[in-house]
Amino acid sequence: MCAKGLLQLKNIRLRNTLSALNVLRVRDMLSRVELARELNCPGTAITRISRELISKGILKPAGLLESKGGRPREQIELVADWKKAIGIELSPHRLTGILTDLKGHILVREEIFLNERLGLEEFTHSLELIAGRLLGVCEEEKLLGVGIATFGPFSGESGILGKVAACPALDYFDIRKFFAENFALTPQITDATYARALYEIWFNPAPARGSFLLFDAGAGIGCATVFDGQIVFGKYSNVGELGHTVYKIDGEACACGKKGCLETLCSIGVIERKARALTKSKKLKFAEVVKSYASGKDEFNEIIADSARWLGLAIANQINFLIPDKVILTGEMLQLGERFFEKVNESIEEYVFSAFRKEMTLSKSDSWRESAALGAASLLVRKVFEDIKYL
Ligand SMILES: [Zn+2]
Repeated sequence: MCAKGLLQLKNIRLRNTLSALNVLRVRDMLSRVELARELNCPGTAITRISRELISKGILKPAGLLESKGGRPREQIELVADWKKAIGIELSPHRLTGILTDLKGHILVREEIFLNERLGLEEFTHSLELIAGRLLGVCEEEKLLGVGIATFGPFSGESGILGKVAACPALDYFDIRKFFAENFALTPQITDATYARALYEIWFNPAPARGSFLLFDAGAGIGCATVFDGQIVFGKYSNVGELGHTVYKIDGEACACGKKGCLETLCSIGVIERKARALTKSKKLKFAEVVKSYASGKDEFNEIIADSARWLGLAIANQINFLIPDKVILTGEMLQLGERFFEKVNESIEEYVFSAFRKEMTLSKSDSWRESAALGAASLLVRKVFEDIKYL
């Protein structure tokens, strides 16, 4: 009886320790009194927890806070680089890798832009380069692991990609095998849109309660549904394929085998293809379209406005269906800037059921370039705050 009771007490103490860490994760610094108030637990318990965590190097003293009529209070804060994690986003156009600390500060960033007609060899060589550089700059004892955010369908159990419509050279690429053979480690793998939603939940503290829809517009169109801090309607770290829902019956052929998918109406590939036809330039790149559009030129206005309209319609339909508190637009298409975002917004206004639009906020993510890599890394980072074995 006695031993069991002691075990429970120990568990309560460890749970309290995790709760204190989670408060300090989102707050810059706090005094012990403030922390005790926040957690609604005795000051003596907080003193014991903070002493223990300071001795382990997870927390550190952060100066004195003057208090009215009393002794100055010592503040404590999380040692953000106590542990680190690597996140890498695989996309058809680029590989973006980051080394992050526990608070999502990017310590090192690596990026490689890929060729359009990419072969498997170029891809694996670039991935090896990025992963090697990031692993090379992180102290071994601090590394929590590597998280991968990938495009294309994949099996959550095996980590093997399926048929990758946007980049056939990567069909059935085995991500786990690649990391096992080259770096002797097992990465955590997740879908890129799923990872962007994880980033919003974990590093860009979205309110813990309420719902949001995140739309990831780039080479494809992904959508994640988040309710009370949990991603729902997804299996095996995949989210739904909004980009492959049919929006135009008997429309243009899509790489997935169907016709008239949303991705044939709005995606980087579609904009690029239409811009090439317009300028009769076979090598015109999306980046050049972005440059022209961002500088205020009207050459590609119609093409981009058409894509924005379809995207706005798709978002409006999802809002009508799920009635979220908030919508976040993210992804590589945001390179098109404020004009594009306004066009998408206009289209949402046009098609959404107006009563649902009133209470909802729409924002765009400024960190779309790194958010998938950070979201993948958050899979490792959150273990420190959720699993007592890391303490
Ligand atoms: Zn399709």
